[in-house]
Amino acid sequence: MIIDCHGHYTTAPAQLQAFRDAQIAHFEDSGKPAPGPLEISDDEIRESIEINQLGAMRERGADMTIFSPRAVGMGHHIGDEAMSKDWARICNDMIHRVVRLFPDNFVGVCQLPQSPGVPVANCIEELERCVNELGFVGCNLNPDPSGGLWQTKPLTDPEWYPFYKKLVELDVPAMIHVSGSCNPNFHHTGAHYINADTTAFMQFIQGDLFKDFPDLRLIIPHGGGAVPYHWGRYRGLADMLNKPLLSEHVMKNVYFDTCVYHQPGIELLFKVIDTDNILFASEMFGAVKGIDPETGFHFDHTKRYVDSLDISAEDKRKVFELNARRVYPRLDAALKARGK
Ligand SMILES: [Zn+2]
Repeated sequence: MIIDCHGHYTTAPAQLQAFRDAQIAHFEDSGKPAPGPLEISDDEIRESIEINQLGAMRERGADMTIFSPRAVGMGHHIGDEAMSKDWARICNDMIHRVVRLFPDNFVGVCQLPQSPGVPVANCIEELERCVNELGFVGCNLNPDPSGGLWQTKPLTDPEWYPFYKKLVELDVPAMIHVSGSCNPNFHHTGAHYINADTTAFMQFIQGDLFKDFPDLRLIIPHGGGAVPYHWGRYRGLADMLNKPLLSEHVMKNVYFDTCVYHQPGIELLFKVIDTDNILFASEMFGAVKGIDPETGFHFDHTKRYVDSLDISAEDKRKVFELNARRVYPRLDAALKARGK
């Protein structure tokens, strides 16, 4: 079985974005109408998935996608906490509807109602609703809800601890995933995402988070940002900061995905990072949707890169399936319940 741990509902029917646009307009000017109820039919959802994500999964050979709302659409830096709560709930309900329509191919991961300056503990209610009531298996945690201004404390600060405690209690992982950037210096998918991945990893080196939460599991997407390429720098920094070896200090709790859109990048990732810490993912449809003129295949057809690696069949199975089942135990349990 092939599990893609990182997919977003970037193809939702247009009414969803129209709702968001109206919500933002109303927030900025209360004289403008509040958004009306969101009306999207099951047929519209079915079509938006079948011709897009599901079509590509079938063509490329993935069975199940761990699916979350559009990341850049989370927009935690826009509006206030109440607005983020409404928006997160609506986006998560959309994911739930996709999962109900295609239970064999999708499982949900939730957006959190984060907002700048608001304790992340306030997101626990929505996390619990999504996990306990909607059957979701994880969440996307934004390390920078201020959208490129980095106004929150590092991820290792006790401010984040109540949320981690809940993740451990529910036995669900979080993918560290920023949203849009309000800082024009940082293109969101080309710079802000990769910066955040790299920044989160360095924060884990500087702190002692996993000493306090030995069972916490965090996924750093986009191949771990710049980390694998600069692995020597990070090992050296851990040494300079008198921290244990990264294998002990960070890598018992942190996983990277395969959203690296070229063969040499994937080869480097596998050369540097232990296979047990790599999860297959494509981020369909995310940062790069086009066809690579050098290969003639889509940049985000990441399965091809993993298939081409000179690693054992056993290691490939870990990356395609077993690691995801270990990191997302609620998915594993749901699959086992279906005899898979
Ligand atoms: Zn993503």
